[in-house]
Amino acid sequence: MNIILFGPQGCGKGTQADLIVKNYGLYHLSTGNELRSEIEKGTDIGKLAEGLINDGQLVPDDVVQNIILSRYHSQAAKGIIIDGYPRNAAQWGFLKSNFKIDAAIEITVPEQASIDRIANRRMCPQCKRNYNIVTIKPKVEGICDVDGTALIQRDDDKPAEIIKRLKIYKEQTEPLKAEYSNLNILHIVDGTKSIENVYKDIDKILANIR
Ligand SMILES: [Zn+2]
Repeated sequence: MNIILFGPQGCGKGTQADLIVKNYGLYHLSTGNELRSEIEKGTDIGKLAEGLINDGQLVPDDVVQNIILSRYHSQAAKGIIIDGYPRNAAQWGFLKSNFKIDAAIEITVPEQASIDRIANRRMCPQCKRNYNIVTIKPKVEGICDVDGTALIQRDDDKPAEIIKRLKIYKEQTEPLKAEYSNLNILHIVDGTKSIENVYKDIDKILANIR
């Protein structure tokens, strides 16, 4: 089965995707992670993407589409959870013409909760490990457990940037819900519940598809 997992920044998608992978054996296809891994491996796509990202530009749609297709075909998994995609109508057009999507699950959280959750994120600039000053605290406040480097807040995680991204989500990604609804694949899960309870709700939806 192929699933779209979406929701505003800070809704807990990554955590839920990990739980789904563990229990259903799907491949977690996050376009952001795939691009980062291409950059780390220094592939041609990675070099192209890195240059564009450093210039503050978006990676072209066809590059991302090729990554999605090649990952899909190289995975012997029982299907994919696609996260961070589609963000707009054009991307949805590509996805629906190449894949049978069984469910589009939105994890909703109120805007303020989203802002607060992201504002709590910290990152180690050395090893890139992620922390959260409320939920994933380092052993010593402000210091990476692994290498002792002082943790930082990414510029992306500062409130003004979060508000900008939430606005784009509302304008471009949320309208896709009407399309999912027409296909009877839309499911909405309350992301303000505990991690376990959000997962229970998702599990109920997936159990009906399997
Ligand atoms: Zn570190």
